Amino acid sequence: MLDARRHDLVVRARRALVDGGWREASVVVRDGRVVAIGGLADEVDATVDVTLPDDQVLLPGVVDSHVHVNEPGRTEWEGFATATRAAAAGGVTTIVDMPLNSIPPTTSVDALDQKRAAAGPQSVVDVGFWGGAIPANLGTGDLRALHEAGVFGFKAFLSPSGVDEFPHLSTEQLHVAMAELADFDGLLIVHAEDPERLDAASAAAPAGGAAYDAFVRSRPDVVELTAIEHVVEALRATGGRAHVLHLSSATALDTIRAAKADGLRLTVETCPHYLTFDAEHIGDGATQFKCCPPIRGEANRELLWQGLVDGTIDVVASDHSPSTRALKFAGGSDAGHGDFDVAWGGISGLELSFRAVWTGARQRGIALETVVGWMSRGTAALVGLPTKGRIGVGADADLVAFAPETPVTVDVDDLSHRNPVTAYDDARLIGEVAATWVGGRLAGPSAPPARLLVRPDTGLAS
Ligand SMILES: [Zn+2]
Repeated sequence: MLDARRHDLVVRARRALVDGGWREASVVVRDGRVVAIGGLADEVDATVDVTLPDDQVLLPGVVDSHVHVNEPGRTEWEGFATATRAAAAGGVTTIVDMPLNSIPPTTSVDALDQKRAAAGPQSVVDVGFWGGAIPANLGTGDLRALHEAGVFGFKAFLSPSGVDEFPHLSTEQLHVAMAELADFDGLLIVHAEDPERLDAASAAAPAGGAAYDAFVRSRPDVVELTAIEHVVEALRATGGRAHVLHLSSATALDTIRAAKADGLRLTVETCPHYLTFDAEHIGDGATQFKCCPPIRGEANRELLWQGLVDGTIDVVASDHSPSTRALKFAGGSDAGHGDFDVAWGGISGLELSFRAVWTGARQRGIALETVVGWMSRGTAALVGLPTKGRIGVGADADLVAFAPETPVTVDVDDLSHRNPVTAYDDARLIGEVAATWVGGRLAGPSAPPARLLVRPDTGLAS
């Protein structure tokens, strides 16, 4: 089965998710890749030989396609060292970094180079990058140059992003961007909230203060639905590819289903926090739960689960978007109690995302391999990384030892992301990440830097 040269690692498990199915396996690794898969007790000459205890299963690492690292420029919110350590602790072996809220935003090759320089020496999981499409870089050649430099696609906002250096596209500019990307079959990933609907809603129901229900009323379902309709129209007009980020409102599911049935190239993600929390249980002033679009009601949450199960929603990604504690609780009378109008909008959940979704899935009778499909295989397919999201010969040796029945209570002070604030503090989740290997190397505080990824079809070396 194996040639004579010594291997780097073999991981043996009674239950390993190999090419989508469960089996007993020894997963043999050399030079960062899986080179053979044998029986549990096969003899393998390897430097490191690990046998998982019976309560652990071996999974492919999570590929989190939606992470805001914020370095350089806002490293005090989140940096590559802390974000990638949080990722590894949560079983995430690849992150794809968003083009904001770093300074500069990743809207030019020069800015991408600055991101890569910051990430390279200190990241312990693999890191890829999204570019950004903003009014100022449309039609300038920047998008094609970023594409050729290896970004996985381009993020655009349809409403204000929250930071001045990343302005949103108008509906007309959305069409222009999609047409420009269609020239090289680039992917547009969209924050879908409509600014006119937002303005109308906030005029009718201002979001000010600590009341969570007022915040939700200021960003009603129709804000998302209208923006998604604009994305669908632009797809129809241009033949392009688009991905709707962080779907919160289940009212858009019918529109998405119809667009997919028409053959439009549309994919959709939702996030662990929309699947875990609900408006009925978020207290006033609890701005650690503030994100845009907002976490809605319990009935809506159940419809999102159904949308995932029936395939209308393709993937789940964390949208880890941290800030400092002071910003996250801005406007409040004390730390830990904020004003929803002025607090930073973004959930810190990278380290907990897989376990949060598994906890909810398990309660609803959904299998672990289905969750892996949403958060690992599906997200790898979204960004176009064929060697990730699966355990199989030739795949990257991105592996997670996971105890799927072990309860954990979240303590924010134990988490690795930079600022100790998360919507999941005190949450009771099921599932413990016992070990994470990135390219066959055990991820941990002393792990060597991981790889910076480029889109494989560029022909550039990672
Ligand atoms: Zn985001």
